[in-house]
Amino acid sequence: MYNAKAYATLTPASRLAPFDLQRRDPGAHDVQIQILYCGICHTDVHIARNEWQGTTYPCVPGHEIVGRVVKAGVHVTKFQEGDLVGVGCMVDSCRACENCREDLEQFCVNGPTFTYNSSDKHNGGITYGGYSDSVVVDEAFVLRVPKHLNLSASAPLLCAGITTYSPLRHYRVGPGQKVGVVGLGGLGHMGVKIAKALGARVVVFTTSANKVEDALRLGADEVVISRNEAEMKQHLNSFHFILDTVAARHDINAYLVLLKRDGTLTQVGLPAEPLAVQVGSLIFGRRNFSGSLIGGIKETQEMLDFCGEHNLTSDVELIPIQQINEAYERLLKSDVKYRFVIDIASLGTPAAVRA
Ligand code: NAP
Ligand code: ZN
Ligand code: ZN
Repeated sequence: MYNAKAYATLTPASRLAPFDLQRRDPGAHDVQIQILYCGICHTDVHIARNEWQGTTYPCVPGHEIVGRVVKAGVHVTKFQEGDLVGVGCMVDSCRACENCREDLEQFCVNGPTFTYNSSDKHNGGITYGGYSDSVVVDEAFVLRVPKHLNLSASAPLLCAGITTYSPLRHYRVGPGQKVGVVGLGGLGHMGVKIAKALGARVVVFTTSANKVEDALRLGADEVVISRNEAEMKQHLNSFHFILDTVAARHDINAYLVLLKRDGTLTQVGLPAEPLAVQVGSLIFGRRNFSGSLIGGIKETQEMLDFCGEHNLTSDVELIPIQQINEAYERLLKSDVKYRFVIDIASLGTPAAVRA
């Protein structure tokens, strides 16, 4: 075991604060990663504040991790010291169930081991995430980050990127289709970039009038202020696919009726409260309402390679970790352009170790 620095919260209502933890020494199949950047996902806020229930404290969030391999176990084949790598929402799974064998570890029937707030089979207790200067992960759950991409702007691909890429691919979004993205936050802005790169016509739905110009710059063909009913009505029965990234309670029926016959609305935003569905909106038009959870490891690598080819990264606000509590408050006000990323050097790791 060795010591690592981190930021943790100790109760649902506390501020995140410095916290020391112990990581395992890398085993034969593990890599030890010096974390350089970690994105702040809205899920971090939900879990740090126990909004979905089931949070164990102390809680060290963070699942958009990029960094450098500093040690590789003797049986590690994919990585070597010095490689730039990423870790997303999962660090392990049973690898034997039907879903794991189909490269869908996120749906592991025995429960994937999430990067934080999951049982830690190595150390006991729970897993601790990327608001930390170091992590040890089995190489099977470590990703290659394209070298030419800006590293801090690549961190959000590990969750926001794969969470939007996976449903867009699953529902075969492409040229000739009209695709909606609801909510222009961390997930939403990656959804716009990826749907556009896949060749779709993209319409952004936002509650924030001040994001219209940005949405167009990010690649949207059109922007709708979702609180404006008349604007919404112009799009009735016209979408092949809509991706909903909203983290709070909202009227889902206003979007279901915008789908064409047989169209699909996929929910990736996960509000703490239930959403009320007007079943009629589904029946008339044989429309589909579905959900999607991140993506498997194989698909996450495919997404990173796709982003490498298309030069896609996140628009980020880089912050020192000392500003994390203010960043959470701004996230709750939809005030981020468009993903906060923590510069882990601010944790104060000695420069000699960082080099
Ligand atoms: P975010 O950056 O806060 O973005 C959410 C966006 O939703 C906001 O920017 C805002 O966009 C819109 N919004 C917020 N409150 C709203 C309200 N009351 N009514 C309508 N729109 C509202 O969050 P994120 O990191 O993208 O995460 C979004 C959600 O996805 C969270 O619930 C998170 O837990 C979940 N998530 C799910 C998965 C998965 O695998 N399914 C993975 C990661 C995250 P506008 O200002 O444009 O309206
Ligand atoms: Zn996330
Ligand atoms: Zn499994």
